[in-house]
Amino acid sequence: MKYVDEFRDPKTAKKLQRQIAHVAMRACEGREKPLQIMEFCGGHTHTIFKYGLEQMLPNTLELVHGPGCPVCVLPRGRVDDCINLAKCDEVILTTFGDAMRVPGSQGSLLQARADGADVRMVYSPMDALQLAKTHPEREVIFFALGFETTMPATALTVLQAAREGIRNFSLFCQHITTAPTLRAILDDPDMHIDGFLAPGHVGMVIGEHPFDFVSKNYKKPLVITGFEPLDILQALLMLVTQLEQGSSLLQNQYKRIVNPTGNSSGLAAMDAVFEPRPENQWRGLGSLAQSGVQMRSAFSHFDAEKKFTFSQNNSPDPANTHCGAVLKGHKRPWQCELYGKSCTPENPAGALMVSSEGACAAYYQYSDKRPAMANPA
Ligand code: SF4
Repeated sequence: MKYVDEFRDPKTAKKLQRQIAHVAMRACEGREKPLQIMEFCGGHTHTIFKYGLEQMLPNTLELVHGPGCPVCVLPRGRVDDCINLAKCDEVILTTFGDAMRVPGSQGSLLQARADGADVRMVYSPMDALQLAKTHPEREVIFFALGFETTMPATALTVLQAAREGIRNFSLFCQHITTAPTLRAILDDPDMHIDGFLAPGHVGMVIGEHPFDFVSKNYKKPLVITGFEPLDILQALLMLVTQLEQGSSLLQNQYKRIVNPTGNSSGLAAMDAVFEPRPENQWRGLGSLAQSGVQMRSAFSHFDAEKKFTFSQNNSPDPANTHCGAVLKGHKRPWQCELYGKSCTPENPAGALMVSSEGACAAYYQYSDKRPAMANPA
């Protein structure tokens, strides 16, 4: 397939594999542990497992799977909020399919739908707006989640609703931002990551500059990269080369998509509709300052948080789950006692098992750490 096959070419992959092994060995000299690279984004985690990239890497290089999957970091309290909204007779609650399966403290949106709540899956916020037009007697709420990648579409939908004077459409906004999350990982005293792969689709929207602080303030190399196997292998080579040379630069491997200054139309729409939220709750990471957005007061008539009452509960994950430790790269999915037993993609106990971009789901689907091998102790 034109423009895809060339990014999956096995010969080039093998060449990159040899180069990575060679450079990583030199970069690792004098160290007791392998180099640790975090792929921040769940999309990268998925590619890594789907194409067996982890098995191609030398034992001097280890990948750590980061928290960049919006479904995985959705706190149970926000799922509970959605279920409470969906139980209101006048409400049609809409969201993406993955979000419907995330467990809250009293089940998922899918279970709430089975119990009679009006919960509907949509493919885009514009679908939700269309639903509002065809059901003027109901309030259609779009549960908006995702990093900067999905934010422009949500913002443009709100602007469209405002232009058309739609009054029965609102957002329950759970959009989150990448840079503060990276900062939280870097500020963790147990942080042991040597370099980062940053998500190319986020870079496509926000550009390169918001990632600057990783190299400037924390002296860690970061490479913005795409989602094909050769993208990731090339970015890994760029990272290990930097580590071997002792440098810590921001590099852009995904120049065919990521403009240094981002997407000006998307950024303008986001800026018109959203402002930083002072504190945002993350599953497994707790409360992070300015790590998400809320709607500007000019759009409060589209803001479900202004139209409805919320409990603001922050029910913690069950004690025997390790989602937070996996999200921060401190544990591997198969080190969670529930992995493959009471937590599977069909019946997820934790959010990382819901989306195909979740580290636990990716391990479960593609890796050799199958349930039978998990928890050998
Ligand atoms: S196996 Fe399930 S409960 Fe354990 S860390 Fe993964 S998602 Fe969380």
